[in-house]
Amino acid sequence: MRKRVLVLGGNFGGLTAALSVKHELQGDVDVRVIAASDRFLFNPSLIWLPFGKRRPQDITFPLAPTLTEHDVDFVHASATRIDAAAKRVTAAGVEYDYDYLVIATGYRNAMGAVPGLADTDGAYTITTLEDAIHAGEGWRRFLQNPGPVIVGASQGAGCFGAAYEFLFNMSYQLRRFGLKKHVPLTYVTAEPFLGHFGIGGLPGGERLLGMFLRKEGITAVTEVAMEEVVEGKLAVSGREPLDFAYAVIIPPFEGQDVVRGVPGLADEKGFVPVRDTYQSAAYPDVYAVGVAAAVSVPWTTAVPVGVPKTGFPTEVQAHVAAENIASQIRGKEPGRHKAFGEIPAVCVMDAGNNGVMILADRMLPPRKAGVLIPGPQSHGAKLLFEKYFLWKARHGYVRLP
Ligand SMILES: Cc1cc2nc3c(=O)[nH]c(=O)nc-3n(C[C@H](O)[C@H](O)[C@H](O)COP(=O)(O)OP(=O)(O)OC[C@H]3O[C@@H](n4cnc5c(N)ncnc54)[C@H](O)[C@@H]3O)c2cc1C
Repeated sequence: MRKRVLVLGGNFGGLTAALSVKHELQGDVDVRVIAASDRFLFNPSLIWLPFGKRRPQDITFPLAPTLTEHDVDFVHASATRIDAAAKRVTAAGVEYDYDYLVIATGYRNAMGAVPGLADTDGAYTITTLEDAIHAGEGWRRFLQNPGPVIVGASQGAGCFGAAYEFLFNMSYQLRRFGLKKHVPLTYVTAEPFLGHFGIGGLPGGERLLGMFLRKEGITAVTEVAMEEVVEGKLAVSGREPLDFAYAVIIPPFEGQDVVRGVPGLADEKGFVPVRDTYQSAAYPDVYAVGVAAAVSVPWTTAVPVGVPKTGFPTEVQAHVAAENIASQIRGKEPGRHKAFGEIPAVCVMDAGNNGVMILADRMLPPRKAGVLIPGPQSHGAKLLFEKYFLWKARHGYVRLP
């Protein structure tokens, strides 16, 4: 009987894992994707959405045609229960049995980390499509009645790249609207120093980011915890509250409830501790990739910072998981090993009409090489990356780099 691989989630991790497993076994496997959203979302472009530079339809595409074309079954539903002992998932009241499960359910915002962030006028985040649309509505209101702007990443956040990108795009937009000289812009972060990025920093990074901020006239407030958002004020640890008319804050991420609900599967944040094969530490026939997989970091900071689980490592993890599932189906031991920390860091940070390319031999230290390359070519690279990635994912060409 053909083995059944069930994938939860249809974005960077889920789409890649589902199509790769199908490919690894030359089609001789039943693969099904269950995803809460029926569209793929290119999250890196959410930084442009509030400014009207992208519309939702520019950065999403429907999953069903891509999956169907590759003979992968697609169910548009939220998984509500995983029974790891019975190897069964429930979604929209229907039960789906599996031989191997891949959890690629990503993140949800832990908005409770910053009281008031979820429901205070003028304060937004941009980490989901709905949030970014909402932040765009706020931005248009702000333009009618401008005032101080805060962009930041809270304690426990890991997606610092997005915070920096939004900060520099904000600076660019303020200039475009003739507001740059009239509106103070402040970057507030849990990072111990500028350019830490949740990966411990890279050589020259702090200096480069400091230079960028000075050039743009942006004030930096580092190593603070955000205590509360109330209308027009952000309370932070050890300082006077900061004023804002418009604030965009990246919160920490947490895992989905369906993952938390499985005994012994997830950590306290709802992420799945994994081996370097991406098998769950608790259940060898359950894999977790991307944001859903837990990562432990080799440092502690005065204010907690998370790790950026970006698109590139997510795809690598999905490929490793797919190869290992294929090995298990062939009756072999999972043979591909690649811990998160060993995956190269490849990231392009956009700054409106400029940017920084971030390259390192490993996501986490100890590293042999790490470099930040600033310049307008990085803005071009991000535009190319967006177009290329959406084309690649829409066609299901997951074997391309
Ligand atoms: C604003 C922003 C900017 C970013 N910029 C970059 C960048 O420039 N470069 C980069 O490499 N990375 C970037 N990232 C990170 C990148 O988006 C993530 O690495 C990537 O989204 C992780 O993919 P994933 O598949 O693990 O999770 P997600 O993208 O979160 O996908 C989760 C999937 O699971 C589904 N799902 C959730 N719950 C359930 C459920 N209960 N049942 C079934 N399905 C479920 C969702 O519908 C979705 O399909 C950025 C992220 C953000 C938020």
